[in-house]
Amino acid sequence: MAWPQTLIDASYFLAALLFILGLKRMSSPRTARGGIVWAGFGMLLAVLATLLLPDMANRGLIIAAVLIGVAAAWWSGRRVAMTAMPQMVALYNGMGGGAAAAIGASELATHAVDYTVAAPNTFPLMPESWSPLHAATAVAQLSPVALALGVLGALIGSVSFSGSLIAFAKLQGWLDRRFVFPGQRVVNLLVLAAAVLIGVMLATGHVYVAWIGAFFVLALLFGVLMTLPIGGADMPVVISLYNAFTGLAVAFEGFVLHNEAMIIAGMVVGAAGTLLTQLMAKAMNRSIGNVLFGSFGAAAGASAQEIGGSQKPIEAADAAVMMAYAERVVIVPGYGMAVAQAQHKVWEFAQSLIARGVKVKFAIHPVAGRMPGHMNVLLAEAGVPYDLIADMEDINPEFPTTDVALVIGANDVVNPLAKTDPSSPIYGMPILDVADAKQVIVVKRGKGTGFAGIENALFYADNARMLYGDGQAAAGQLVSELKALDT
Ligand code: NDP
Repeated sequence: MAWPQTLIDASYFLAALLFILGLKRMSSPRTARGGIVWAGFGMLLAVLATLLLPDMANRGLIIAAVLIGVAAAWWSGRRVAMTAMPQMVALYNGMGGGAAAAIGASELATHAVDYTVAAPNTFPLMPESWSPLHAATAVAQLSPVALALGVLGALIGSVSFSGSLIAFAKLQGWLDRRFVFPGQRVVNLLVLAAAVLIGVMLATGHVYVAWIGAFFVLALLFGVLMTLPIGGADMPVVISLYNAFTGLAVAFEGFVLHNEAMIIAGMVVGAAGTLLTQLMAKAMNRSIGNVLFGSFGAAAGASAQEIGGSQKPIEAADAAVMMAYAERVVIVPGYGMAVAQAQHKVWEFAQSLIARGVKVKFAIHPVAGRMPGHMNVLLAEAGVPYDLIADMEDINPEFPTTDVALVIGANDVVNPLAKTDPSSPIYGMPILDVADAKQVIVVKRGKGTGFAGIENALFYADNARMLYGDGQAAAGQLVSELKALDT
């Protein structure tokens, strides 16, 4: 084996190792940042090694495309707001699926050209031109397994690409969240069946340009149709599922290209995406099937259950006193904290409480905010130590012995109707049992609903008080009021 090939193989091996170790480090907030860097170096190494391949064509064009991609990603990555991160992930993920599909398209097109050269006078759609002889000529360079995996990768990658773009448009607010029409599932099924059928034709050697075109149109259409009816609240689960799809598609295309780094990276992404999808669905108490074919979060109707009582406001000074003399305080952040960028002020307030001898913990719901780990990222950014942060299962039994639960910008994840109202769109979603605390203080700007668009029974509970205002301003007021107590 020539030296460069050995070098390339070794680089792929090292890149794969870096991907796996990087992913491992991402499992803890302490090491996650390092994990991203490790995986990033792995990717850099894999790209450089690929550019060294001796039979690489269009090297200049590829380098130019890579540079444009890097510049666009750098620019958009730096300026994206934390709250817009889910749609950015959707977009990047879609690009991965699209890239895998493009590899499939290019491989198929190359072989279709072979066919045309071998049999220039036969119209590609005519059945008589499906002869095994022509087919054999057409796919001479690809093994049957590689051809089948290439087609499968192209199908999955296309669905992931167009589906992710629709998910992006929905999360960005460009598309109405509800898009349902009669017979939708039948239409979806027919489109998928047609795409699979043509895919089987291609995979069995009938590689004609017209078939390739029809295959990609149908696969892309299916991604769009499959995503349109899914409600906004389910988008993160769907994006995670498409992430798994992209990983699989990349792995399959890696097989076609004999690229080990692609196969391993694709498998790692596929497995991680599948696990994340399952975890998120579990956190919402849903099955994947229900996410894809139900319409949770699509309807923002009012709850059937009557909510009695009224919302009772509280002043920052009184809220600060309540917490200053409490033994235990649990802070529950939600999407509103991200919008207000209140994490630094909230941590400052928590530190002042801790200095006074109050036991403070932060409680994180798995789907709080707008992306998995959203709250963890914000709290880590503010410098909150990890041992003060508790997951839902760990903190829920502690609420009855909590003196004050401070809810800041959270709504759906603390809504008791998820447990009590079967007609509620979030019924069945596990929640943080904030209402069990002795006192609850809720910071939000007004009477705005959360993502699911429904009323929250917690805000009307006897033990709940509303501290109206922007999250950052309210946390700042609490800090000042606490200081005032000491002077
Ligand atoms: P919610 O979206 O339910 O509620 C956020 C609340 O924050 C609103 O009621 C709003 O009320 C308040 N708010 C908004 N801006 C501010 C501000 N500047 N200052 C103070 N408060 C503010 O958030 P949760 O975190 O409780 O729930 C997340 C929801 O998002 C769930 O339904 C989840 O399923 C869904 N989701 C989760 C994703 C994830 O992966 N984590 C992704 C996509 C959706 P007001 O307007 O009155 O201020």
